[in-house]
Amino acid sequence: MEAWRRQLDDPVSAFPIAKAGPAHIATLKTYDPPLSALEGRRLAGVRRRAKRLLFATEDGELVLLVHLMTAGRLKHLRAGEKGPKTPAFQLEFEGGSRLVLTEAGAKKRAGVWLLTPEAAGAELEHLGPEANELNAKRLGEILAADNRRLHSLLRDQRALAGIGRAWANEILHTAQLSPFALSSQLDEAEIARLAGAIDSELARGLFLRERGAGDKQVYRVHNRLGEPCHVCETPLARVDYEEHTVYYCPKCQTGGRTLKDRRLSRLLR
Ligand SMILES: [Zn+2]
Repeated sequence: MEAWRRQLDDPVSAFPIAKAGPAHIATLKTYDPPLSALEGRRLAGVRRRAKRLLFATEDGELVLLVHLMTAGRLKHLRAGEKGPKTPAFQLEFEGGSRLVLTEAGAKKRAGVWLLTPEAAGAELEHLGPEANELNAKRLGEILAADNRRLHSLLRDQRALAGIGRAWANEILHTAQLSPFALSSQLDEAEIARLAGAIDSELARGLFLRERGAGDKQVYRVHNRLGEPCHVCETPLARVDYEEHTVYYCPKCQTGGRTLKDRRLSRLLR
């Protein structure tokens, strides 16, 4: 998300908006103020909050909030550059450049909200601190405040914002911690490792994404069942947990133990 933000920051603020829309009915989540309220205004650039991109108008009166979910893509097209036939959402700038939101697949999950700054603030209030801005002390407080399995806690945007399921896998592998370890039971060294892994993995992801790397190049653990661990060469394992599939190295992270699908073991007990 941070890589997207950096790419879009300059081009979207270069010209005022000439036309806002069209928007797919499932994508645009608000109707008041209307999209046309954006026309004639200039954006102040892009900010990011967790997985949301925020485009505030320069006059400070409106905020366009975009949540890409998993399949949404935002692209800036120069004047005359070919784009998708039916974008889920589009902003056209004076001079003819465009910001387009597309979404692969039939299901429209990505969302666009046009909000007042107050409403945007309320929308974002429940988010935890940004994961890439935490130190070990603050992370320790978050872990102690909410005793849960690490994979679940890392993904919870209310606890800390900006980590999805794939990065939770990458981070826990780098930190050499079990996805099922309980957050309040980490010792100081483990908390420091986790804080270091959050920083180094998110930075690594940003570095690669900015150079156009795809999932296969970025993820070393996520979605790599049976492939050798890049540290110890043990085949990577996976376990279903909550609604997610968790990938991990049984040697680096769980001391040789295989994690059990807890939903199933509960049923069989
Ligand atoms: Zn390993």
